[in-house]
Amino acid sequence: VTKNPQQPEVNIGLVGHVDHGKTTLVQALSGSWTDQHSEEMKRGISIRLGYADATFRKIPGADAPECYTVEEETEDGDETEVLRTVSFVDAPGHETLMATMLSGAAIMDGAVLLVSATEDVPQAQTAEHLMALDIIGIENIVIAQNKVDLVDRERAVDNYEQIKEFVKGTVAEDAPIVPISAQQEVNLDVLIEAIEENIPTPDRDETEDSRMFVARSFDINRPGTTWEGLMGGVIGGSVVAGKLEEGDELELRPGREVDEEGQTEWRSITTEIRSLQAGGNMVDEVQPGGLCGVGTGLDPSVTKGDALAGQVAGKPGTLPPTREEFTMDVDLLDRVVGSEDDSVDEISTGEPLMLTVGTATTVGAVTSARSGEAEVKLKRPVCAAEGAKIAINRRVGARWRLIGIGTLK
Ligand code: GDP
Ligand code: MG
Repeated sequence: VTKNPQQPEVNIGLVGHVDHGKTTLVQALSGSWTDQHSEEMKRGISIRLGYADATFRKIPGADAPECYTVEEETEDGDETEVLRTVSFVDAPGHETLMATMLSGAAIMDGAVLLVSATEDVPQAQTAEHLMALDIIGIENIVIAQNKVDLVDRERAVDNYEQIKEFVKGTVAEDAPIVPISAQQEVNLDVLIEAIEENIPTPDRDETEDSRMFVARSFDINRPGTTWEGLMGGVIGGSVVAGKLEEGDELELRPGREVDEEGQTEWRSITTEIRSLQAGGNMVDEVQPGGLCGVGTGLDPSVTKGDALAGQVAGKPGTLPPTREEFTMDVDLLDRVVGSEDDSVDEISTGEPLMLTVGTATTVGAVTSARSGEAEVKLKRPVCAAEGAKIAINRRVGARWRLIGIGTLK
């Protein structure tokens, strides 16, 4: 099977402080990404998780780094050669995405840390995002020193030294630092070269049990469609292991809440894969990298309005258990994310926590808290394997704040 060159094969997190140029850089590198997804994908998944695809290309016969480009043609009208398509996960500076990132939902294979040359290093989210990369264990990192068009040479060198000092002793210690201007499109070829060299596509094991995290689900039928014309329910999200193929049977967990004679229980749903979409095209199979849409045989009323968001899909009989309660090891952060000085108090029995596990977010009540460990009872069950990472949020004032990371026992 020839791989569709537009199907992304690697996920690259784009992290850094608000206004440092993440969205501008994604736009400069992906130009036409907005028409690579159907309207629903565009409005929905891309926005929620902030994915955008970019295809890196090479000008045949040219020297590095000038040969690296995202243009389909050279100035002379010659065709460029496709290297690979990558999917950027553009992290807006808010905590929800940070929680999703930490819980491992948007599996990142590497990250570009954007740092503006116009401000002192580190700004709050520069530090938080680097901490997150450290916690998740993302080691393939490229640092982009952005907005160099706004500073003089001396400022740029000074800022470079600050970045060096800041990353000392972290996972990003040896990451290359590439000065760029995302807005003026300066040095993007050098940045692409650094990404190609430092963030390789991981070896994928196709034979592993397939696993997909569902981020969205919808009913794509227009109102008033007759039953003969009705399309099955669609789920969207990312494949994190193995591969999905058209025609495969698919199980979804936790599935549906079933009410029988006053007793309610969660039962998994089984269906088949009728169509697959990735990189904006219909495809026969999908492997990890970027986002995909899966047309299923489900009644669209089951998938409408994100009803299945947060669920896990895979080959029937291979999914981790559905859990209505669990015990987790707890690592608390030193400080509450998004605050200057609030230190984190121990978790106490009875308090509500908001937990992100994969793409699922659920509220849990702490039924027992010990040092370094907590037992929680969930409002809505999750499907998760032992060892799964959990982002733990506590209500502070009117908002949920990230306070730590759990590991499912
Ligand atoms: P984000 O919050 O990290 O996504 O940052 P944005 O991409 O939204 O950029 C914030 C502002 O900085 C916008 O007004 C951009 O036009 C501007 N900006 C981004 N990159 C550059 C750059 O390289 N040079 C200059 N002069 N401005 C930039
Ligand atoms: Mg942005």
